[in-house]
Amino acid sequence: ENNGLGLNQYEVYSPAFHTNNKNEVSLESKLHDALEKEEFEVFYQPKVDIKSNKIVGVEALLRWNNDTHNNVSPAIFIPIAEQIGLIDKIGEWVLNKTCEHFKILEKKYPKKLEVSVNFSPRQFNDKLLEQKIFKILADNYFNPHYLEIELTESLLVKNPSLAVKKLNKLKSAGLKIAIDDFGKGYSSLGYLQHFNFDTLKIDRDFIKNIDANYKNASIVRCLIQMAHQLNLKVVAEGVETPGELNFLANNDCDFFQGYLFSRPIAFDQLIDLINLRNS
Ligand code: C2E
Ligand code: MG
Ligand code: MG
Ligand code: MG
Repeated sequence: ENNGLGLNQYEVYSPAFHTNNKNEVSLESKLHDALEKEEFEVFYQPKVDIKSNKIVGVEALLRWNNDTHNNVSPAIFIPIAEQIGLIDKIGEWVLNKTCEHFKILEKKYPKKLEVSVNFSPRQFNDKLLEQKIFKILADNYFNPHYLEIELTESLLVKNPSLAVKKLNKLKSAGLKIAIDDFGKGYSSLGYLQHFNFDTLKIDRDFIKNIDANYKNASIVRCLIQMAHQLNLKVVAEGVETPGELNFLANNDCDFFQGYLFSRPIAFDQLIDLINLRNS
């Protein structure tokens, strides 16, 4: 059954769904109240320029704490939110909150940073998506040039021509588009052929042990070169070791994210980190 979920998300979701049904049901009902109870929080993970080692942007990553489950992974609850029809509301909340945070950050730290927000397949299929995004940006006086949306490959499968139209509308308003988890899904190269992305994010699976794993090394070297020839910037996801970072620096990768530099952190911590590392 094609339920519109990304393959990797579905893989993460399905074991729990089938083996621990009770728990899923209670998560599901808790998710219905999560917005109202203000249980969500937006965390941020820095995106770092490999050459200067400065923070140039952040990725917004949703966190959920409720009275019985601490820190439920978005890899678990986002697919549930999609299935029960809550993802649009949650997505709007995330974008709003992110805009609010960045208005605060702007006052404390005048150099502009780019912020990336994840959109899941269901959200992307929302007919009113563009209008909703534009409205939230306008309401918050947020310059669209500083917003990047991250999409996974799988979401573009269903209706490519509609997806192209949507992406072009978003791009003509100034937003940037990243293809997330690149290499993990199907027909990756076809996507590069048909869509005008700005950024390619190489999945962590390929970054892992890249300094020791010659297969990963070859794949990533080629991906970086190809992306650059197509005029895309490259972000390496999930960089954990100096060896991995070294390899990426030596092979012309543009940006990296990963525990090596910082885990995703709360907004207040982000401000401290920016003041510490970017000054
Ligand atoms: P993603 O967009 O690919 O985000 C990267 C994930 O990798 C994040 O997991 C991040 O915490 C994790 N990560 C970052 N650096 C490292 C590292 O060095 N090592 C390892 N092992 N992991 C690292 P997280 O925050 O659990 O999010 C999982 C996924 O949930 C995201 O994958 C994204 O697809 C989805 N997601 C998160 N927030 C949102 C949201 O607001 N909306 C939507 N639609 N999806 C979201
Ligand atoms: Mg992402
Ligand atoms: Mg990713
Ligand atoms: Mg992912």
